[in-house]
Amino acid sequence: MVNDTAEVVVVGAGIVGAAIAYELAKRGHDVLIVEKGTLGGAVSGASLACISTHMMDLDELPLLRWSCEAWKRLHDEFGGFEYHACGQLRFVLRDDDIDVARRWVDAERGVGLAPELLDPTQVREVEPLLEGPVVGASWSTADAVVNPFLAVRMFLKAARSQGARVRAHCPVEALVESDGAIRGVRTTDREVVAARQVVLAAGPWTARLAATVDLALPIKPRKAQCLATVRMPPSIRRVVGACESGGGVEAGYTQIQQAHNGQILFNTVLAGGQSDDGAQDNVSQVDEPFVRDSVATLLMLFPQLLDVALLRSWVRFEAVTPDDRFLIGSGGPDGLWIAAGDCGTGFVRAPAIARCVADMLTDETPIFDTSIYAPGRFDGSKAAWA
Ligand SMILES: Cc1cc2nc3c(=O)[nH]c(=O)nc-3n(C[C@H](O)[C@H](O)[C@H](O)COP(=O)(O)OP(=O)(O)OC[C@H]3O[C@@H](n4cnc5c(N)ncnc54)[C@H](O)[C@@H]3O)c2cc1C
Repeated sequence: MVNDTAEVVVVGAGIVGAAIAYELAKRGHDVLIVEKGTLGGAVSGASLACISTHMMDLDELPLLRWSCEAWKRLHDEFGGFEYHACGQLRFVLRDDDIDVARRWVDAERGVGLAPELLDPTQVREVEPLLEGPVVGASWSTADAVVNPFLAVRMFLKAARSQGARVRAHCPVEALVESDGAIRGVRTTDREVVAARQVVLAAGPWTARLAATVDLALPIKPRKAQCLATVRMPPSIRRVVGACESGGGVEAGYTQIQQAHNGQILFNTVLAGGQSDDGAQDNVSQVDEPFVRDSVATLLMLFPQLLDVALLRSWVRFEAVTPDDRFLIGSGGPDGLWIAAGDCGTGFVRAPAIARCVADMLTDETPIFDTSIYAPGRFDGSKAAWA
């Protein structure tokens, strides 16, 4: 029995699903977004939400750049999500790694971006409390941060204003398919929502839903952890990250920033790693070594924060793919679209992903080269997770 109908059902109200719902509703589509939990309550709400092009995938720079500009336009148009263009420093701890930073700066300047390489004196001019033993830093002035919960709400509010409907606490159990075409979704309450188009933006749960129509997607969960201090007077002005290979830990990354409410948010994470399938279903605690590394890195860089008290920690599970890129595009039965596989940097990309999905769904040529995101790009490749 059909309980509801929509032209397009978007599964998942994280930042990606919310942005897609808005983009489609704006183009006049009848959109229903269904979320199994609270709106933005999975990875998106746990994000540090840095909006950046710096030290990312060079092949993705056109999309990243467009997306950063889109965030600025959204701030100008809607506001209300604490968009703050604070810029980002990527610190370097070893002389050898200055060349790594220089290569990134040169490559990005070559395509018209404007990062700079700073010496230690200049670093302290940009971030006065950064007194740790850095030998330099790259500096990307255009980068920004947003409040992740408010950003999800901004998109959903904008989508609703264009006629989209939003249902929270409504888990989808399976996709409904017949004759090679998608027909809608079935919820765990056995309700069927009929739809000719379904967009899966369900983060690390996407592969499980795709499997209900025998579509295998190479997405695995990865544990992401974060720490927050009590509120502090303004202390850290920028997003402070580690330069590739020059982080607090070998081949890892660090991200430190002060939120609008005064809390210092920070983490230091080893690159790579995956969790077992199903890990994303459970609430888990941060790991002790993670806390030790993160606190050590924070205090190494900002010794004046020695007495600051930690308030809370959290864990969420990002969705990773074999080549660290999103899956964006059609897959499986006609009318099924995939927008998942954030690999830990999905916040910045969300407006551009929404644009790509809306272009594809409406038979328009996407403004970016989407072939690098094709969901079927690993088909037949035994080395997908090598
Ligand atoms: C600590 C941390 C720091 C980060 N920092 C940054 C950063 O600085 N910059 C950046 O760009 N990115 C960052 N990220 C990554 C970024 O937050 C994610 O890439 C992004 O939020 C992913 O959004 P999403 O919508 O794909 O996934 P999610 O937010 O996980 O949304 C998917 C939604 O689908 C819902 N869902 C799942 N299954 C179902 C179902 N069966 N039925 C209905 N709904 C379902 C889920 O409940 C969830 O709400 C960070 C992440 C973390 C954890």
